[in-house]
Amino acid sequence: MPAVKRAASTNSVDVPVKRLDAGTIRKYIDLRKLDFDQVKRCSVKCTPLEVYCCLQCGKFLQGRGARSPCFLHAVNNSRHSMFMNLRDAKVYELPLNREVDTARDTLLQRLQLALQPQFESDRLQAFPQNCTDLVAGKQYTNGFVGITGKPQLVNYIVILLAHITPVRDNLLLCKQQEGTLVGQVTQFVQRLWSTTLLRGHVSPEEWVSYLQVHSRDWLDVTDPKLAFNWLINQLIKSPLQDTLASACRGEIEVKQTSRVVPFWNVTLDLPTSSATIFKDGREVNDLPQIQLSTLLQNKFDSDTAPYMFRSLPEHLIVYYNRHSGARLPFPVRDRNQTMVDFPLTVEFPGNHRYRLQGNLINDVVRSSDIATDDTNHWKLQLLNTNNDQWYEIDGPLVTAREQELLFLKETYLQVWRRV
Ligand SMILES: [Zn+2]
Ligand SMILES: [Zn+2]
Repeated sequence: MPAVKRAASTNSVDVPVKRLDAGTIRKYIDLRKLDFDQVKRCSVKCTPLEVYCCLQCGKFLQGRGARSPCFLHAVNNSRHSMFMNLRDAKVYELPLNREVDTARDTLLQRLQLALQPQFESDRLQAFPQNCTDLVAGKQYTNGFVGITGKPQLVNYIVILLAHITPVRDNLLLCKQQEGTLVGQVTQFVQRLWSTTLLRGHVSPEEWVSYLQVHSRDWLDVTDPKLAFNWLINQLIKSPLQDTLASACRGEIEVKQTSRVVPFWNVTLDLPTSSATIFKDGREVNDLPQIQLSTLLQNKFDSDTAPYMFRSLPEHLIVYYNRHSGARLPFPVRDRNQTMVDFPLTVEFPGNHRYRLQGNLINDVVRSSDIATDDTNHWKLQLLNTNNDQWYEIDGPLVTAREQELLFLKETYLQVWRRV
């Protein structure tokens, strides 16, 4: 084949790079072209095995053998000579097929960390922290970065869970099995909390593409409780099980039967009222409102309450049920729109004080057409406990939020931490 012949001859006349000083290495790297968030497949052969990233143009190519896309790419393009293995982050020079000693170069080491963030257990308690991205030198806060692409509900729920400290630490420090859902979630969470990102955002592209192949249906789920339960059921089949259970699982007693049942989240039903039909031009004030304390009392803490808490976890996940379960023609528009009024610290039955840490809200986009349903628009509000500031993640946008205004949106899923 002509290509191979050319490759061989070019190889033999090429003058090998004798020593790799920092200046030479930089000639082979164009940071602006690199993006490790993409699905790691060869752009020529589509294989996910043995894929390298050309550090000059960012292309993902299979290689390093003499007929491989990677090898040919190096032969046919000058300066496209340095490649990082996307699995073990080792760097090679092609077509010489020589491993580069990265221990002597800070830029290559930074690139390795951008691909595979590393975490040390004694530094996690300082998280979140101020970080600088490698490409633009911009500041970002790890754990509070924007999400590019089209984030789905499950992505936001993963981020919410990844802000529960013991769950986060487990995902950052433990090796998870590759090629599994939990492995994919782990990779995503490690990038979310990375202090060494290429750019100050993360993309769910890799694990979304994993879901597309393995659990297609769950990508389109629009009910946070279904998505949450599905995710928990996946995670408790992994080494994360014990951490999750000790952080988030509690027990309630069904008063009528004295039966004790474990729970992963507390579901609060919102009152249905005939006033849920409105004319256009309504204001927030027109919506029915209820206090969180009233909801808790009705379900757990009064003589007529059907349940009582037996044990409350360190991290309490609360779900507000806005869907009756009936199949409605317009499930989004016909949801229960009651506003929940909650303080940022709340007393749960039995003198347990909790502080709000995370709040998944739905900023529904109303349809202008009566024949089509409204559209869910999920946003995630998270507390940075280091500066007591609330932030809202809305896709790629991260905005600081006034804590007094948090309850003005429809809340669906919250994480409370015992104080
Ligand atoms: Zn990116
Ligand atoms: Zn290239």
